[in-house]
Amino acid sequence: MNWEALTDVKRYDVIVVGAGVVGALCARELTRYGARVLVLEKGSDVCSGASKANSGIVHACLSPKPGSNKARLCLEGNRLMPQLCRELGVPFMPVGALTVAFREREVRVLSALRARGERNGERGLEILRGPRLREAEPALSEEAVAALLSPSAGIVNPMLLTIAAAENAVANGAEVLLEAEVTGIIVEQDGVAGVRTTRGDFGCRFLVNAAGAHADRVMRMVGITDLTIHPRRGDYFVLDRSVCSSGLDGERSGGKPLVRHVLFPIPTPVTKGILVTPTVDGNVLLGPTSLPTHELEHPAVSGEGLAEVERQVVRMVPSLDLRQCIAVFAGSRPAGARDFIIRGERSPQGLITLAGIESPGLTAAPAIARRAVALLGEAGLKLRPDPSFDPIREPPPRLAGMPPEVRAELVARDPAFGRIVCRCEEVSEGEIVAAIRSPIPARTLDAIKKRVRVGAGRCQGGFDLPYVVEILARELGIAPCEVTKSGTGSEVLMGTTGACRGRCG
Ligand SMILES: Cc1cc2nc3c(=O)[nH]c(=O)nc-3n(C[C@H](O)[C@H](O)[C@H](O)COP(=O)(O)OP(=O)(O)OC[C@H]3O[C@@H](n4cnc5c(N)ncnc54)[C@H](O)[C@@H]3O)c2cc1C
Repeated sequence: MNWEALTDVKRYDVIVVGAGVVGALCARELTRYGARVLVLEKGSDVCSGASKANSGIVHACLSPKPGSNKARLCLEGNRLMPQLCRELGVPFMPVGALTVAFREREVRVLSALRARGERNGERGLEILRGPRLREAEPALSEEAVAALLSPSAGIVNPMLLTIAAAENAVANGAEVLLEAEVTGIIVEQDGVAGVRTTRGDFGCRFLVNAAGAHADRVMRMVGITDLTIHPRRGDYFVLDRSVCSSGLDGERSGGKPLVRHVLFPIPTPVTKGILVTPTVDGNVLLGPTSLPTHELEHPAVSGEGLAEVERQVVRMVPSLDLRQCIAVFAGSRPAGARDFIIRGERSPQGLITLAGIESPGLTAAPAIARRAVALLGEAGLKLRPDPSFDPIREPPPRLAGMPPEVRAELVARDPAFGRIVCRCEEVSEGEIVAAIRSPIPARTLDAIKKRVRVGAGRCQGGFDLPYVVEILARELGIAPCEVTKSGTGSEVLMGTTGACRGRCG
């Protein structure tokens, strides 16, 4: 392999294409072995693809076919998740899941799911009925006749998990380059030698394709054509925390958990179905649909899809009040393969393909990352544990839910933590500044929202947006007119009036 042939380019042991949850965890896992790693992400922030718009469920391993990659990696990922979240300082809530049957004949499906789950290695699966079911989930419709309890299911904020993994990788020596789209792969003597990107060429001996919905395109760059991704859109409602608060600091808004578990209907061959779930941030999430789409990323929400969600969730939990919806969004599943494709390519050598990572890809991501590193080892990467690797990431201070005395101490040290910018989510200027100065600096409104939830509350940014624009402009040393929602072309201010004049030119 003649990767030295590439002169005048920066060289790495491994380049990871895509900074979704899979790419970010791969990069972190590689730094455990001291590898020189570069993550290339075409978006303006890490977590720009499927990892930012999903249900955030850490699935129990019920539906994947026993023996498949999905089954093995879902189980392993599920088991790794609590410890991983502790290390990365992100919340994980082991709420458990209920798969609900509405007819006696559906109870047979629950039994079959339990048997499959047990073959996949799940333990503690139990079919609940009658008073035990009502006690477990009082909000559940009286029409429900039984439910399969999966105690190992949980919930995470997938964006925080991805960001934290990428930040921890950077703290351990990895580099992350944003707005750097990989456009070609450089191959020398049938081995990976580097990549071409919209920000120049980079050399590497090994390449990990973790490009999500674009993984098939990256494969085609070296003539591998055995996968085409057919994305499937999922539409969601988000309900306000004030009425159904359920998360870690749920008591703060006085709410009682509306639902205690992740509630699934009976699955279909293509989807686990439309669910009702609490989120770690205190909202309730309703969705997703599973509809074919042409939009690989940032799909538009469909009215038809939302109507379907409404119909199904109200059947499951009749007390749901859709008027408490504060946001709708849609995600796009990188579907197309029956199973996760996880393999080292024979040609070119040094290329590891991680493709078709649809659900339960978030759950499986920690295990996929381990598998990818093992494949890199088989392909020739030296894997010696680096004693300086530090798995711990200290989470940035979060005012909401903080005990008053700790809060007072923080504000005394830095008064910016006493200036509340987002009232709905109780976020201070100090937290926003910390996000902008973090290991992967938040440089856009969306990046701030992902990290500290400014604009994720009831007002959806209506109150705080101008303040965040001002803080971003000040901290980044740019004009307010240059502040974007999610990178070039999404500037939020259209013209100059009043106070803005002179600052925006
Ligand atoms: C509606 C929906 C619900 C889901 N619910 C769950 C769930 O509850 N639990 C669960 O376990 N899983 C769930 N999933 C699946 C899970 O979200 C995905 O499996 C996971 O996020 C995939 O992560 P990834 O890193 O492979 O892909 P992505 O997060 O899509 O990351 C790929 C990244 O690569 C970047 N990229 C693409 N091409 C290039 C290029 N040429 N150069 C540079 N960068 C590039 C993209 O911008 C993107 O950031 C759900 C998915 C959807 C869509």
